[in-house]
Amino acid sequence: MAHRVLVVEDEEDIAFPLVRTLEREGYEVEWVDNGEKALETLASSPELVILDLGLPDIDGLEVCRRAREDGYDGAIIIVTARAGELDRVVGLDYGADDYLAKPFGLAELQARVRALLRRTSSAGGHAAEPARHDGLRIDIEARRVYAGTEEVPLTGKEFEVLSILAANRDKVVSRGRLMADVWDENWYGSTKTLDVTIGRLRQKLESVGVTDRVVAVRGVGFRLEGGTPDA
Ligand code: CA
Repeated sequence: MAHRVLVVEDEEDIAFPLVRTLEREGYEVEWVDNGEKALETLASSPELVILDLGLPDIDGLEVCRRAREDGYDGAIIIVTARAGELDRVVGLDYGADDYLAKPFGLAELQARVRALLRRTSSAGGHAAEPARHDGLRIDIEARRVYAGTEEVPLTGKEFEVLSILAANRDKVVSRGRLMADVWDENWYGSTKTLDVTIGRLRQKLESVGVTDRVVAVRGVGFRLEGGTPDA
């Protein structure tokens, strides 16, 4: 079955070659040129979105944030001509999986798309069952997480949430503490963002066969505990 990819890009000169390239690669591609249409189309859950930041109506970052808040759990690649802003954008963590500065080479983009789809389709169970790993290893200094020898690609916020839970393994960490430590005191959003981050974290850990689980403790917070693999 062909992977469905959504291209959100208002400049035809960029969108057309991109869509053609992806279609040649065998993907089922949809193209929209503004943020409103992007959010509408995301409701049909394409597996991957290539999202431009400079859109005529809603800023791409806002589209990304709202998509995650609405529970969209496919892959998001942000592309931007605002190269100078890229570091800041990555640091803020709007829930994107990858970032690419314009102008980008089509081969580079294709490689990123392939890598992300490989990852998300194994989470969706289309690909072969991942090898089971018991060990979850967190390299705090390098900010990298491994399941056995395989690296688990986490966003900044996912990494921070996981490292706090891991430092308090088998104990409950309150929502308030996670919000305060991972999002700063200027955060005025709802804790739904925390739930979305936890959801994606769980999915990524499961997709590589990590048996440790992030367990929700109703009304209190979350706990990381060792689990047994599903039969
Ligand atoms: Ca644009």
